[in-house]
Amino acid sequence: MLRNAVGENSSNNRRDVKVVQYVLNQRLRSRPALTVDGIYGPNTQGAINYYQSSLMRQPDGIVSPYGKTIKNLWPVRYSNPTGKAIRTADAYGEGHYGASRGRRTHDGADYISQPNQSIEAPVSGKVVRISRPYASGVDANVLQGVEIEASDGTKCWVWYIEPAVNIVNQVVQAGTSIIGKAKTLTNRYKNGITDHVHVRIHTRYGSPVNPETVIK
Ligand SMILES: [Zn+2]
Repeated sequence: MLRNAVGENSSNNRRDVKVVQYVLNQRLRSRPALTVDGIYGPNTQGAINYYQSSLMRQPDGIVSPYGKTIKNLWPVRYSNPTGKAIRTADAYGEGHYGASRGRRTHDGADYISQPNQSIEAPVSGKVVRISRPYASGVDANVLQGVEIEASDGTKCWVWYIEPAVNIVNQVVQAGTSIIGKAKTLTNRYKNGITDHVHVRIHTRYGSPVNPETVIK
């Protein structure tokens, strides 16, 4: 969620400061809200110090990428993006992680979707970029996706949606934030494919995670 640290003597990049200001506002409801403008100053530092005072014995005034403070401010949580079951076998296979795809195996899990339904973030984090399952052709523009990075560096790709307007750089919460709308796959896969959203998850270090083990 953060590229560099925010706080005392830190990089305080605008994009990172914005994330920290936003999540501090969500957590510290009893305090006056910070202006989410990405500009680091005494109010932002004060809120970091206040938050850390209840979190650690020796606050350092710094919110580091993947550190204890950001992981507590925005815990890694998971949720079913469509609220529906995993796709069962159709003419193209079934949607479980590791299912056969000819010579390959399925690298994610497919959650059945209703075209146009709102899709919720499967993981809490920040939408870091638009992700396209297909490089070219009509589908490249119609069937899109997003990449979300969680506070511990977990990465999650959600495909076959129309991303919500201005979703990139937004902080999202699993099961609450709408990241886009489901798209039908029937224009690309003719013979009775079950419409679904494809979810792929990797750890911060790039190891694949079976989404079904974390999305309950
Ligand atoms: Zn899939």
